[in-house]
Amino acid sequence: MSGEIEKKQMDWANIGFNYHVTDQRYVSNYKDGKWDDGVLTSDDKITISECAGVLQYSQSCFEGLKAYTTEDGKIVTFRPDLNAERMENTCKRLEMPVFPKERFIDAIERVVAANEAYVPPYGSGATLYIRPYMFASSPVIGVKPAEEYQFRVLVTPVGPYFKGGAKPLTIKVSDFDRAAPHGTGHVKAGLNYAMSLHAIVTAHEEGYSENMYLDPATRTKVEETGGANFLFVTKDQKVVTPKSESILPSITRRSLMIVAKDYLGLEVEEREILLEEVKDFAECGLCGTAAVISPVGKIVDHGKEICLPSGMDEMGPITKKLYDTLTGIQMGRIEAPEGWIHVIK
Ligand SMILES: *Cc1c(COP(=O)(O)O)cnc(C)c1O
Repeated sequence: MSGEIEKKQMDWANIGFNYHVTDQRYVSNYKDGKWDDGVLTSDDKITISECAGVLQYSQSCFEGLKAYTTEDGKIVTFRPDLNAERMENTCKRLEMPVFPKERFIDAIERVVAANEAYVPPYGSGATLYIRPYMFASSPVIGVKPAEEYQFRVLVTPVGPYFKGGAKPLTIKVSDFDRAAPHGTGHVKAGLNYAMSLHAIVTAHEEGYSENMYLDPATRTKVEETGGANFLFVTKDQKVVTPKSESILPSITRRSLMIVAKDYLGLEVEEREILLEEVKDFAECGLCGTAAVISPVGKIVDHGKEICLPSGMDEMGPITKKLYDTLTGIQMGRIEAPEGWIHVIK
């Protein structure tokens, strides 16, 4: 027998992007200046001091990636080394201890393997979302970094992001700011999300799917949304993405730029993008692990509508090619660049 695991009976197409508790998670504690060995545990609860640093001053950060079942039945993740490096940068900015890259990848491998029954089958459109995170666990009352931390990895199956095709979104130019110059916009700190909640709830109430944040200093340049980077296609088929010190460096966006150049033979450019020039673009998409690319059909700037020529019915043609190529690479249908696909089993 190959020791094949029996998959959980879940309605993969309809589980949505919600937390479903799985069997095992990884936990490692940092104390007296070092990380312990780390363990897998079935305990999904955490007990910490009522005065823990994370509860008082929000010292926490996270990462997000996915495990996929490929066409030939392997379980893989996509560029987990980049998540490890990004979390390292985040921890340094937040005065948190770095969890070493090899151990980060090892923890992911162990948690995914231990929850193999929850890795959705190939072709279901669903994936296993992986959430590494770290928080200050020891008490802090005077403002300073905590002494003790916990690093964890949990996994939860998530459904296909686009059910029945990817419909272009309508988004608004926000009056709120996401990240200050020289602030924490370039790192994956939980606090960036806490303060974006009011802006997204407001946008949803007004009927928009997302916010386009501008640079807070001049309010003339495109930054990103609350959780995804922008990618634009010019009318002469160049793929452009905003350059800014306060954008979170999306692994999906960085990968798509390589796909555009090396697989589709397109010109690519990372540069400052003015809100004013957005009306001249042919296509617009939002890039992140959750959806890979969500097409944008319309951007509303204080009542003024910018309608992308790709329209409100389907993804633009270049966006679609980028989407199909990157998801093809992730699912093992298209040969990946060296090091992109990390086989777990
Ligand atoms: C996580 C995140 C993204 C997307 O990054 P991926 O690595 O592609 O998932 C984009 N913007 C923000 C603000 C994020 O936190």
